[in-house]
Amino acid sequence: MVSDSLRTLYEKLPSGVKLVAVSKFHPVERLMEAYEAGQRVFAESRPQELAVKVPLMPSDVQWHFIGHLQTNKLKLVLPYVKLVQSVDSLHLLEAIDKWGRDNGRIIDVLLELHLGAEETKQGFSEEDIRSVISSEVEKSYVRIRGLMGMATNTEDEEVVERDFGRIEALFRRIRKEHPELAESFTELSIGMSGDWPIAVRHGATMVRIGTDIFGPREY
Ligand SMILES: *Cc1c(COP(=O)(O)O)cnc(C)c1O
Repeated sequence: MVSDSLRTLYEKLPSGVKLVAVSKFHPVERLMEAYEAGQRVFAESRPQELAVKVPLMPSDVQWHFIGHLQTNKLKLVLPYVKLVQSVDSLHLLEAIDKWGRDNGRIIDVLLELHLGAEETKQGFSEEDIRSVISSEVEKSYVRIRGLMGMATNTEDEEVVERDFGRIEALFRRIRKEHPELAESFTELSIGMSGDWPIAVRHGATMVRIGTDIFGPREY
């Protein structure tokens, strides 16, 4: 049951780690079970699905976006979300900045680091992330809150350790090199159903968990 799996996770997760319930491909009834059990932070990966679910859920839900976001879909997503975790290109970052300017809102984002996983080409390289963060380009309407990454999809824990180790090192390095970001660049979103305990050991401040809460995706 959703409430039992949530309770188990709440017990196991250290207090500084935020649980983001990944509700993509699950019907609103399942999300409401999680809500009734106390869960308030949910994440979706498809703009259309997010836009359908938002008005069906209570208004104190905090939504995150974690999927690939095309710049022509911003209006389906940005009005509703607290955090875009999956900013994977400069083009998208600039489009979000422009949307924020046009709509008088500052948008919190994470930059997605492309980790090992060959299946997906999504995400920035380490170099690109460091140059985006150091760049003098004025981005007044996006606030870069930290990094997001997905480890290689493998049973081999050493590979997962290596992937999370890389993103953790980059996260710490940026914080060290940019003391001016101490207050804003604070989030490290790593870990999903299969690998979150390893992510927690590598300093995760958020874990994004779907299957362990809701079971296999339903549609
Ligand atoms: C689907 C998804 C998750 C959750 O995956 P589970 O294995 O179901 O926990 C986490 N992060 C991202 C970016 C996802 O797309």
